[in-house]
Amino acid sequence: MALLAGRTAVITGAAQGIGFAIAEQFAREGARLVLGDLDLDAARAAADKLGGPEVAVAVRCDVTDASEVDTLLNTALATFGSLDVLVNNAGITRDATMRTMTEEQFDQVIDVHLKGTWNGTRKAAAIMRERKRGAIVNISSLSGKVGMVGQTNYSAAKAGIVGLSKAAAKEMAHHGVRVNAIQPGLIRSAMTEAMPQKAWDQKMAEIPMQRPGEVSEVASVALFLASDLSSYMTGTVLEVTGGRFM
Ligand code: NAP
Repeated sequence: MALLAGRTAVITGAAQGIGFAIAEQFAREGARLVLGDLDLDAARAAADKLGGPEVAVAVRCDVTDASEVDTLLNTALATFGSLDVLVNNAGITRDATMRTMTEEQFDQVIDVHLKGTWNGTRKAAAIMRERKRGAIVNISSLSGKVGMVGQTNYSAAKAGIVGLSKAAAKEMAHHGVRVNAIQPGLIRSAMTEAMPQKAWDQKMAEIPMQRPGEVSEVASVALFLASDLSSYMTGTVLEVTGGRFM
């Protein structure tokens, strides 16, 4: 039996990168999907790649806007009749040291990651608790565990996602809703391809497994946390880092 047969999953920032890799693995395991992204055309193209409207539908959703998150989650209910899994994955970086980071860059990153994850978590939880079942997977980062130079905004947001996930897990455990987080390390995606070579090399030197991770390697952990394989786990943080900063 496929791990997500008959389940509906919503993924934010799902048009590319880790979000799309999660969508691919979930689809392979029988899930029906609602893909949210800022870029509707890209989300539509992603949904087509997964097999079209029988399997996946696309919605434009800016996770910082609570009403757009409502629309995203309600699409799962209206189209497929349930909401079983939410992955809060949407993300941006606006790296700069504190000397040069603008207040706007700080606020943007906190808004997308922390407020976006809060919006998704609280709104999905409200639906899932009624049905006494659900799994929420929040994408944090190793940056939230150790703090990274040039990322006071991103590290703060990603550490905040850990606290948010644990608090939400405690609030929702007796309602049958699990909330867990993933902290990826250096993963090959558009986000990391933009990195200067020197920064990439520095990070590579810190990885005991001596290679970057692939988006599919984050997706398989998301699948584990979304499925009943992790039925007795809530409030946990799983590191997908090749051993970096263990
Ligand atoms: P990515 O390729 O840049 O994908 C991020 C996606 O999020 C994009 O499709 C982007 O859409 C979307 N997005 C951005 N702002 C949004 C918003 N306000 N509302 C909805 N969607 C929005 O990055 P990725 O590497 O796959 O990252 C996915 C997640 O993993 C992020 O939370 C990131 O922080 C986390 N992470 C990544 C790594 C890594 O090494 N790659 C490591 C640790 C954690 P547009 O492109 O259309 O703007």
